[in-house]
Amino acid sequence: MAAALADAAVETAGRLLARARRVFVLTGAGVSAESGLPTFRGAGGLWEGHRVEDVATPGAFARDPALVWRFYDARRTALAGVAPNAAHVALAAMERSGRFEAFTLATQNVDGLHRDAGSTGVLEIHGSIRRVRCVTCGRETDDRRAPMPEIPPRCPCGGLLRPAVVWFGEGLPPDVFDAAADAARRCDLCLVIGTSALVHPAASLPLMAAAHGAVLIEVNPDETPVSHLAAAALRAPAAEVLPLL
Ligand code: NAD
Repeated sequence: MAAALADAAVETAGRLLARARRVFVLTGAGVSAESGLPTFRGAGGLWEGHRVEDVATPGAFARDPALVWRFYDARRTALAGVAPNAAHVALAAMERSGRFEAFTLATQNVDGLHRDAGSTGVLEIHGSIRRVRCVTCGRETDDRRAPMPEIPPRCPCGGLLRPAVVWFGEGLPPDVFDAAADAARRCDLCLVIGTSALVHPAASLPLMAAAHGAVLIEVNPDETPVSHLAAAALRAPAAEVLPLL
C-alpha cells in the first residue's frame, strides 16, 4: 500500500516536471544525508556534538576563534572524503538535460556537494565551508586546505580568516538571496528537497514560489510546514526518488 502510494506520488511528480518550464529547487541538509553528512535537527539539539551557540555564531568566533575553527576544521577534513550522492547527481543531470527554459538551484547546505556533482550557478544562500573570508580586509577566497596548517588561520594581510558561512544571528548575502527569491517568484515548478523548512528566510522561498502560482513538489521522508502546499509529496530519501524523476 505504502509503496503504491509512493509510486503514485512519483508518477504525479514526473508528470508535473514534464510540463514545467521554469524550475526552482531549494535543498537542505537532507539532500546530503546519504552522503553521510548528519542533518541538523535530528541530533537532540546538538550539531555534531556541539551546541550551535558555541561554534556557529559571531559571538562564539569573537570569544574563541580557535574553538570555532577546530569545529570547522574537523567538518572540512571530514568533507574531503565525502562524495555527492545520487540526489546531487540527479539534480545536476536535470539541469544539464536542457529540458527547461530556466533551472535554478539554491541550497542551504554549506558542503559544496551540488557543485561537486556538476550543478552550475548554485546559489549557496548560507555560504560554503570551502571558502574563507578575512574579518579585517573582507577578501573571500576558495580554500580547501584540510586540515588547516594553523588554527585559527590568517589572511596574508594579517587579519583572522573565518569560514565564509552564514552563522546564526547573521544576515544572508543579499545578492545571493535576491537571486534565489527572483527565481522562486518566476518559476512554475518548485522542488523542495530535504529541508525542515524552519530556517527563515530560506524557508520563505517555497512560500514565495507558491504565492506566485508555482506548483510545489516536496521530497522529504517527513512532513514539514510547506507540506500542505505540495501537489506531490515524495516521502522517501532524496537519493532514492530523485533519480526516478
Ligand atoms: P534540517 O536538518 O533542519 O532538516 C533536514 C530535513 O531533511 C528534515 O526535514 C529531514 O526530514 C529531511 N531529511 C532527512 N534525511 C533525508 C533524506 N535522505 N532525503 C530527503 N530529506 C531528508 O536542515 P535544513 O532545513 O537544511 O536547515 C538546517 C541548517 O543547517 C541549514 O541552514 C544548513 O545551512 C545547515 N546545515 C548544513 C548541512 C550541510 O551543508 N550538509 C548539514 C547540516 C546543517
